[in-house]
Amino acid sequence: MKKLIIGNWKCNPLKATEALKIFTGIKAAALMSKKAETIICPPNIFLKDLLSLKGNIKIGAQNCFWQEGAYTGEVSTKMLKNMGCKYVIIGHSERRKINKETNEEINKKTISALQNKLIPIFCIGENKEEKEKGKTFEILKNQIKEGIAKISKQDIPKIIFAYEPIWSIGTGNFAPTDEIKKVREFIINLISKEIETKDISKIKIIYGGSVNAENTLAYFSEAKMDGVLVGGMSLKPIEFSKIIKSA
Ligand code: PEP
Repeated sequence: MKKLIIGNWKCNPLKATEALKIFTGIKAAALMSKKAETIICPPNIFLKDLLSLKGNIKIGAQNCFWQEGAYTGEVSTKMLKNMGCKYVIIGHSERRKINKETNEEINKKTISALQNKLIPIFCIGENKEEKEKGKTFEILKNQIKEGIAKISKQDIPKIIFAYEPIWSIGTGNFAPTDEIKKVREFIINLISKEIETKDISKIKIIYGGSVNAENTLAYFSEAKMDGVLVGGMSLKPIEFSKIIKSA
């Protein structure tokens, strides 16, 4: 299976010309790598431009809404699918915190993504205080159970589970690989109970949190991650290209 190298541009950059420059800067590495599936999730305003030059890079959105109609400011899952998006990030910790997204809303978004054949990049993770109190697994269990409620056995293996400990995001404080390995085992164990045994090998778990060109390889070789979700470094074409080459 190819390693998933996913760039989350968050609310960056300021102009379309800059977005095109960053995107063009990573195209060669994405094209050359036979072992990486490169996915870029820009702000919605740049989707059209990037979709027109995507090459072998897949495009994803950073959020979605499960309905159309009188919902000012929202962009629906169907609209994203119709544009040509293949993936969508759901439940990023910044949205859980700043936009007060609940597990129930995240569940609706995940169901709607799957119904519209978009692959959900489903984010979970504990904050510093929860980690210090030893609550990591309890938090993850709750986020996963409530986030994938009512999703069929057949659809659960289509979800990409992105473990992003909040204390590691944007801090340079990336998580040790032995901890990530334990989290991987925990998630696999939890999900295995919800799906057919034959599908357990299809579960995809990726890591995010201060990923860079130096630490990526260890997440693949030591922590057995299926990919990485990259914030800050995905806006730096040289760094991000090195991350792609680590696959
Ligand atoms: C993220 O926001 O998903 C993320 C992992 O950010 P960073 O790589 O900057 O820590």
